[in-house]
Amino acid sequence: MPTEEGEELLALTREICDKALRPRADEAEERAAGSPELPRDIFRTLGRAGLLSLPYPEEYGGGGQPYEVYLQVVEEIASAWMSIAVGVSVHSLTCYPLARFGTESQRRALLPAMLSGEQLGAYCLSERQAGSDVGSMTTRATPDGPATPRSYRVKGTKAWISHAGHADFYTAFVRTSDDGSRGLSCLVVPGDAPGLAFGTPEKKMGLHCDPVAEVHFEGVEVAADRLVGTPGQGMAIALSALDSGRLGIAAAATGLAQAALDLAVRYALDREQFGRPIADFEGLAFLLADMEAAVTSSRATYLHAARLHDAGRPFSREAAVAKLVCTDAAMQVTTDAVQVLGGAGYTRDFPAERYFREAKVTQIFEGTNQIQRLVISRQLLRG
Ligand SMILES: Cc1cc2nc3c(=O)[nH]c(=O)nc-3n(C[C@H](O)[C@H](O)[C@H](O)COP(=O)(O)OP(=O)(O)OC[C@H]3O[C@@H](n4cnc5c(N)ncnc54)[C@H](O)[C@@H]3O)c2cc1C
Repeated sequence: MPTEEGEELLALTREICDKALRPRADEAEERAAGSPELPRDIFRTLGRAGLLSLPYPEEYGGGGQPYEVYLQVVEEIASAWMSIAVGVSVHSLTCYPLARFGTESQRRALLPAMLSGEQLGAYCLSERQAGSDVGSMTTRATPDGPATPRSYRVKGTKAWISHAGHADFYTAFVRTSDDGSRGLSCLVVPGDAPGLAFGTPEKKMGLHCDPVAEVHFEGVEVAADRLVGTPGQGMAIALSALDSGRLGIAAAATGLAQAALDLAVRYALDREQFGRPIADFEGLAFLLADMEAAVTSSRATYLHAARLHDAGRPFSREAAVAKLVCTDAAMQVTTDAVQVLGGAGYTRDFPAERYFREAKVTQIFEGTNQIQRLVISRQLLRG
């Protein structure tokens, strides 16, 4: 169970969601469908409330909260506005490599600003030809000298990057040798570095307030003291970050499913056919019961992984299970919500169709659900 402080943070999150997020989500998403936009003011509000840095140590400006609390906050935010919850989870992911693998002097120098609540990060892993197969990436960082480089020059293009063009820093995975997935490294690149350029935002199915675009590194010079971990450690760092990041997506998917279920229940109690509320029909009530079972078991699944994480125990398999279970459940629950609303569910008069579109991508990013099955089965069979 969350501590008293955790409960207070959840209550604060609910208050901010009710006042600042829920009332704006529909209209902002509709408007951004034509031209993607990032509601930066919302992130500032969350940042100032301390909600952008929850799972990181207080000595570097973090909230010092267990993952269990952080993820419940993400779930709460997702139930109000999914794009924002995804943004919070992505930002948290971008801080992870430095917080976990950086040296003490790097942490002291860079983390306080990253965790200040004023900054947003972007996570640059994917490339057009290197999606699930990240080990085939070609973005290259070349050291300026063979022995102890002072800087790296980065050339290449990352694809599908959330917050591209808006972020204050870019946690980027780059190739530093031709040794396959053992030739990758991690750099934290300042957002104003000369040579950074951005593509036109993708025209997506949903999450319009989470702008996604290419990031071009056109000979960007990055100081060597911004290399996180050792050269060649990039793949291990990326996978470790994704173990934690996936839990953020699992929690967000649960919040989205909860919002769809709440809407469906309200509608079913209100809408009458054959002279009775449609909730009176067992065929529909059982659909709602299945939705409730899916949401409740999703929550239990991500919390189980979070508690292992908080106890310092291995949780990689459980994180993959949570990502798979919660996002598949979100897809099913949001699909069923459209069904409960009938024709109205297929219109933009209600957010059910938006929830449905937003659920789809949770099965794709931070490792597709096929890749989660790969992670789970490999760990299962390895014993
Ligand atoms: C809205 C959005 C936001 C994103 N944000 C970011 C971001 O901030 N940073 C970032 O780095 N990336 C981001 N991504 C990229 C995302 O992580 C990739 O799209 C994802 O990893 C899949 O890669 P891909 O699209 O190239 O698909 P592909 O890898 O080409 O996969 C296509 C299909 O093949 C399947 N497949 C591939 N390999 C296997 C296999 N071995 N076994 C079984 N099936 C397989 C996949 O599951 C999928 O169904 C984002 C994507 C989207 C859509």
